[in-house]
Amino acid sequence: MNNPSLVSADTTAGELEAILSAAQEAASALRDSTGSERASWLRAVGTAIDEERAELLDLAAAESHLARAALDAEVNRTVFQLEHLAQAAESGELLRVLAEPADADYAVAARPSLVQAMTPLGPVLVFTASNFPFAFSVAGNDFASALAAGCPVVVKANPGHLGLSARTAEVVSGALAKAGAPEGTFAHIQGVEPGVAALRDPRIKACGFTGSVAGGRALFDIAASRPDPIPFYGELGSLNPVFVTPAAATARAEEIAAGFAASITFRGGQLCTKPGVLIAPEGSGILDSAGAAVAEIEPVTLLTDRITDAFAEGTKSLSGLPGARVVAGGAGTSPTLVAVPAATVLADGGSSLEECFGPAAVVIEYRDPAEIGAIARVLGPSLTATIHGEPADAVAESLVDRLGSLAGRVIWNGWPTGVSVTRALHHGGPYPATTSPTYGSIGAGSAQRWLRPVTYQNWPVELLPREVRAHVDPSAV
Ligand code: NAP
Repeated sequence: MNNPSLVSADTTAGELEAILSAAQEAASALRDSTGSERASWLRAVGTAIDEERAELLDLAAAESHLARAALDAEVNRTVFQLEHLAQAAESGELLRVLAEPADADYAVAARPSLVQAMTPLGPVLVFTASNFPFAFSVAGNDFASALAAGCPVVVKANPGHLGLSARTAEVVSGALAKAGAPEGTFAHIQGVEPGVAALRDPRIKACGFTGSVAGGRALFDIAASRPDPIPFYGELGSLNPVFVTPAAATARAEEIAAGFAASITFRGGQLCTKPGVLIAPEGSGILDSAGAAVAEIEPVTLLTDRITDAFAEGTKSLSGLPGARVVAGGAGTSPTLVAVPAATVLADGGSSLEECFGPAAVVIEYRDPAEIGAIARVLGPSLTATIHGEPADAVAESLVDRLGSLAGRVIWNGWPTGVSVTRALHHGGPYPATTSPTYGSIGAGSAQRWLRPVTYQNWPVELLPREVRAHVDPSAV
């Protein structure tokens, strides 16, 4: 439930105009800022969030219904993300400087001296996620990565936690002002219409989004249909299939069943990385054991009424698939497991399997290992794909290429719900996992979404932008 004393009315047209104008003003100041300055602003936000932790946790727990311990861990992650992006900004790595000296003998034609470096796109609009009220919300990864890149940020509050969003925005604004960030570096807006109006405004130069396929697609289409289309980085829906080979099922059926049940019910199953479908051999015992474990888990209070309604529709639609059998749950917000024959999925080309956000998943049992490959070929793209296999497992080996083309992260003998904020972890994938498969939305690499390359040709080193100059060896150009 949103906190009425904190939730203000939707942003008015006049307020939005002032916010966008200030963001545009701030864009040039941020372009001229150093990575060290931006790192200090990000660290100031992290410190302020940590200082206000108790109050923010109270708000988050009341509005999101997520467990306080899980939210507390999420605040740790959020503060760490801000530090991670601060380090990326101050190291200069985000600039990706490439310097090539002039070469009169270069192939085909003489080459001039060239320095390439990334430059910020300008004000970024962020539609925040409902399921991570800290790590993907007002001061979350999109905010941190855009500021690290040197872009002002306008955040559209998620309706699932308006009170927390408003209070976090106060904390962020206060911290940025105290740390000396330019006015207009950050703003917070509320309401459907203001969000769309901001997305259509020419002063917004890129957009980040985390949410539903329908919502993300509608906003992506608006971004693409502007007279000046802008990059739209949406993280949408993901099935995250898990394939269990016959050898793995023989070796550790109980362990796999327990891990699966825990992974689909972690944080009420409201994770973009929840394994929504498990493909396992018939008669291995995994289905029965996972069903028994899921049936033990209490119904969950989901994030919002909209998500609760969507969960009811999703479980109903999965239970109604040809040959489907409800193994656990199936009513209200009870954790739910549905068994679906491989033939159903193969017959409709995988279209029957859609993400059901919340504590629900499908188990597909196969009779012949050859069916695993056929199922892998019909499933749509995801953020992750997992294999449970054994050493020198020929079935696992046969899946590797397919899984790499299906997802941005392929996992061996683990579960996709644990996500590390670091450089080598890619959190992305082909549509509908994201609207842009080339970048992820976690870690230092996510800042590249808000940057574009500029090449300085025959440019005197001493006249390069201050930040670029600091990372170019004058003798190399
Ligand atoms: P959502 O309904 O897509 O909304 C996300 C944000 O986009 C909200 O701020 C929403 O604003 C805005 N929005 C959506 N459609 C819009 C439109 N047509 N015009 C203008 N603004 C629009 O997502 P949600 O409410 O956070 O969660 C609902 C579903 O999203 C879940 O059931 C799940 O399927 C998915 N989800 C996915 C992830 C993920 O990580 N991939 C995370 C969370 C949720 P308003 O509500 O103010 O309209």
